[in-house]
Amino acid sequence: MTALPTVLILGDQLSRYNGALRSRSPQTCRVLFVESTAALARRRWHRQRAHLVISAMRHFAEELREEGFEVDYRHAPSLEDGIAAHRRDHDVSHLVATWPNTHRAVARLEALGIELVRNRFFLTTADEFVGWASERASVRMEDFYRWQRRRLDVLMDGDEPVGGRWNFDADNREPPPKDGRAWPEITRFGLDAIDEQVVADLDADAALDLWGAPPSGWWPVTREQALVRLGEFIEHALPVFGAHEDAMLHAEWKLAHSTLSSSLNLGLLHPGEVAHAAEDAYRRRDLPLNSVEGFVRQVIGWREYVWGVYWLWGPDYVDSNELDAHAPVPPAFTGDATTEMACVANTLESLHDRAYAHHIERLMVLGNLALSTGIDPRAMTDWMTGSFIDGADWVMAPNVVGMALHADGGRMATKPYASGGAYINKMSDHCKGCRFNPKKRTGDDACPFTSLYWDFLARNEERLRGNHRMGQQLAGMRRLADLDATRERAQEVAVLLREGRL
Ligand code: SF4
Repeated sequence: MTALPTVLILGDQLSRYNGALRSRSPQTCRVLFVESTAALARRRWHRQRAHLVISAMRHFAEELREEGFEVDYRHAPSLEDGIAAHRRDHDVSHLVATWPNTHRAVARLEALGIELVRNRFFLTTADEFVGWASERASVRMEDFYRWQRRRLDVLMDGDEPVGGRWNFDADNREPPPKDGRAWPEITRFGLDAIDEQVVADLDADAALDLWGAPPSGWWPVTREQALVRLGEFIEHALPVFGAHEDAMLHAEWKLAHSTLSSSLNLGLLHPGEVAHAAEDAYRRRDLPLNSVEGFVRQVIGWREYVWGVYWLWGPDYVDSNELDAHAPVPPAFTGDATTEMACVANTLESLHDRAYAHHIERLMVLGNLALSTGIDPRAMTDWMTGSFIDGADWVMAPNVVGMALHADGGRMATKPYASGGAYINKMSDHCKGCRFNPKKRTGDDACPFTSLYWDFLARNEERLRGNHRMGQQLAGMRRLADLDATRERAQEVAVLLREGRL
């Protein structure tokens, strides 16, 4: 038998057409998957996240077998062990893989002499992004987004953006509607035999440290399921997505959010097809532009920008800690304690049940609390990567270190996203059921967010003084007659949070 090349498929590159399998057939290669014990043991994963990745890998392997590929699906202590065993057992001419999505994986595959081919899972390659960034003094998302719109010809009328504006964000900051409306429903996919086997395998592995509710069909494990989710979003949720995309409701975990990020991040969907489906619906059905533009900005703007800066700023970026924050991730986050803060408890309940919270819950509840109490950025990044259904190094490092924790000194976000209870009170219904008062900053019933917010400003006054976007907030802090008492309360709540007693 002649030696064949082997295509190694990583767990977040599950596509027949966007990676190394693109121009290959069952006659020209065999395929290798490695389920690595070390990858599962690397951190504490949400049970649904671990299940999703393994189940999606096994489903994709099955699809390739059905197409006629010879698939070697290995369980091994590490990726390297799995590859070595494959090489021992097969006549391999050479190994090929798609350019991986993490710095660490690139180094590991290169060390193994594996040929890396172009990664087409994104609309922008790392090289294209670096080329774009090298022509600019600052690397701002809004500039990148406009470049993407023009370059990809999405939502354009000739050289101009449709509707005459690039960004309709100002229309998309409405608080929750008070009309008690029903939000679009999504299909829950039944667990098949492969899913059930993954559940059993995870349950049987006593060495794993998993948390969270078991899978119950929320997250697509195949491209077919992901296309169902995309179709439902375009049909029912996209028209009402925009206005309330920043709102938070206790009884409604997703509102009109797409819940497509896990499918995109595994490679089950391509961002190009998602953006084009949204644009096509806009042009055919005359959907509200603020909804369509807001969603398209998430997909071709924000997501690709985060991917780009992950490569641009390199592997050490995740260790940035400009605000000198060293507190551990609090036990309330890790499920080792409860909390009386209703907004935090409700967000964590959603996280426990579905490994999901939407972007404002991530940024303005969990991220805001981490920023104002000085949680270590690296520890927070690791926790979020393991806890969210769409967690990945390239997603979480810029979003947590740069956006939420301002630990990169403002390279990514022009100001820290710190806020008191007033913002959460305006944008959610959480405060109604909370024992704390969002308007109070001192006393036992003071909202922890509010006390911590003023303390954060006071603590970082020197560092933030030169930031013109912070001038008003710092001036407000200096005018507080009870700043000392507020800061004293903030120290108390930081300790209580750390001890799991808040
Ligand atoms: Fe959250 Fe403060 Fe509102 Fe309670 S009062 S829900 S802690 S913002």
